[in-house]
This record gives sequence, C-alpha cells and structure tokens, in this order.
Amino acid sequence: MSSLIDPYGRTVNYLRVSVTDRCDFRCFYCMSENMTFLPKSDLLSLEELERVCDAFIKLGVKKLRLTGGEPLVRKGIIDLLRNLSKHLKNGSLEELTLTTNGSQLSRYADDLFSCGIKRINVSLDTLDKKKFFDITRWGKLEQVIDGIDAAREAGIKVKINTVALRGINDDEFPSLIKWCGEKDMDITFIETMPLGEIDNDRTENYLPLSMVRKQLRKNFNLVETDHKTGGPARYMAIDGTKQRIGFITPLSHNFCESCNRVRLTCTGTLYMCLGQEDAIDLRSPLRQKESNDALIDAIYAGIANKPKGHDFIIDRRSSTPSVARHMSTTGG
Ligand code: SAM
Ligand code: SF4
Repeated sequence: MSSLIDPYGRTVNYLRVSVTDRCDFRCFYCMSENMTFLPKSDLLSLEELERVCDAFIKLGVKKLRLTGGEPLVRKGIIDLLRNLSKHLKNGSLEELTLTTNGSQLSRYADDLFSCGIKRINVSLDTLDKKKFFDITRWGKLEQVIDGIDAAREAGIKVKINTVALRGINDDEFPSLIKWCGEKDMDITFIETMPLGEIDNDRTENYLPLSMVRKQLRKNFNLVETDHKTGGPARYMAIDGTKQRIGFITPLSHNFCESCNRVRLTCTGTLYMCLGQEDAIDLRSPLRQKESNDALIDAIYAGIANKPKGHDFIIDRRSSTPSVARHMSTTGG
C-alpha cells in the first residue's frame, strides 16, 4: 500500500487524534466557560477510533498523538492506548504520545508508561496558583504539578507547553524555564491562535514569540540548535545546559512547508490543516462497511486535498476568529 504523500510532495506520517472535545478545564483562550459540547452520539466509539488509527498506521503513519479536549477524561482511554501499543511492539509505529492538561496524570501515569508512552506534553501556562485558576477557570495548579511529578516518576519524559499571553504570564517566562530546568523538562512556547469563538478578545493577549525570545536573551544565553521532534517547534538551547526552549510561531512565522501531519476530530472528520477548513468525513466510510477499503480510499482522497498552508491573522479590526472551530475540537 503506498504511503500518504500530498500534492506538495510532503509525506504525511503523523496523525493527531482528538478523542473527545470535552475537558475538565475551561482555559479562556481555548473555549468559553459555557462551551456547548458535541452530542455524545456523534463521537466515534473507542473501537472506531482504533480502526481509523490502525488504518493510518497501515498507510505509513509513524507517530500518533492523542489529544482533545482533555484526552484523559475520555472513558476507556487506557484501553484504547493499550490496544494501539501493539503497533509499537511490532515496530509499525515509532511513537505513541499524548497532549494533556495534566489533571489526571497522578491517576494514569503508570498505565500510560505501561502502554509504551515515553514522552508526553503537558500544558502549563503559569506557576502562580491564582493565575492558574484565572486562566483555566476550573483547574487546580497543585493537581497538575503532582501529575507532572507522577509522570516523571513513572519514567515518562515531560515537555511543558506554555501559551504566551501578553499581560498574563509574560513576567513569568524566566522562572518557568528555570523550574523546567530543575525537573529536566524542555519547554515550548506557543502563540495564541484565532481558533473558535471565546468569551474574550484574543488580540489583547497575543504576544509574538519574536518578542519573547528578545526578552529571554536578557536572562539566558540562547544558542541555535537543529533539534527536531517531528513537530513545528524551533528549538534553542540554554548555553552550557541540556535544556531546550521551543517556539511554535504559527502567526509570526509560518512553518507549513515541512508539515507532515493531519488531524482527526472525535467525530471522525479529518482536517488536513489546523488553520484551514479542508476536511473529509471518515465516519461514514467507517460505519458503512466492516472492511476498511472505503475508509482507506477516503483517507487518500483527503491527503490529495491537503492545502499548502494556513494564513492565520490576529487582526485588531476583526473580532471573528480565522477558523470557527475550537482547538479542542480539532485537537491541539
Ligand atoms: N487539554 C489538553 C491540553 O490542554 O494540553 C490537550 C488539548 S489542548 C487544545 C492542546 C494545546 O492547545 C494546549 O497546549 C493549549 O494550551 C493549546 N491551545 C488551546 N487553544 C489555543 C489557542 N487558541 N491558541 C494557541 N494554543 C491553544
Ligand atoms: Fe481544556 Fe486543553 Fe482547552 Fe485548556 S487548552 S480548555 S485544558 S482542551
């Protein structure tokens, strides 16, 4: 079976799967406090999610990341991970990983490790208890920190993802970096992206990472690296240490030329680009037949329509987001 190559010659070998749009937090830049979630009947079952993942792996996907919403609030998630881990054992999959807000990690860290998960990304924007609550609206900082420690103790390497928010956490970046260094964790900063309606105006907190880098150079001796994790982050290192700092700059620097990924929503829609509407429904072919032929045809058809790139803008004159769907739907 031929591998997945898009019209621009990019090989697609990375699938991100949003296993649920639900979450136990309400981060203000991600969703509104009274977010309307999808009806449960629209969601793919765990068996269906597994079938789609299996099909992608057969077509050459080497890296699989489960996300959401909060992936660890999906019931049965460990069963799904355990079933998917068979691909790690037989060598057809190189990495199985997850992006999480960390709230459930204390409970699941050992299970995740036993499913072959070696690295995870945990999102954490501040180390200040009150600010953490203000950002997440529902989250408890101690729970996340305990979760991070549990994951590390279980043998999982943790990378921290921090959304750079002007006027909210921009005074904390050096201390966050130092804290990560003490725990032997890399950290990646992310720019806010205009995805989905929220209660606030995102432009107020948008902070280009070029400015963050400039500010950090006052505190750290940053040196260029060619470290790559298969994602869009560009990494710098703190001179004389092993600690790396990543920057994901979808707005100030477009990284689409090397895009190797597609995203599946929890309802079975495959999005070819986080910042575009191009999508294909995989749920119908999945439900039509027990054989995967129609599903595989649909996947090829989707990849044949992968757009060249996104063109996000954070526009002060327009309050509408570039893309109507939330990050929690497409999977961040
Ligand atoms: N709930 C999990 C978490 O928070 O890690 C996984 C899903 S979350 C949508 C994935 C990542 O997207 C998180 O790091 C979050 O901070 C980020 N995110 C959510 N909305 C965003 C936005 N509008 N712009 C930039 N990053 C966003
Ligand atoms: Fe939930 Fe993650 Fe969105 Fe925060 S960023 S509301 S934790 S899905």
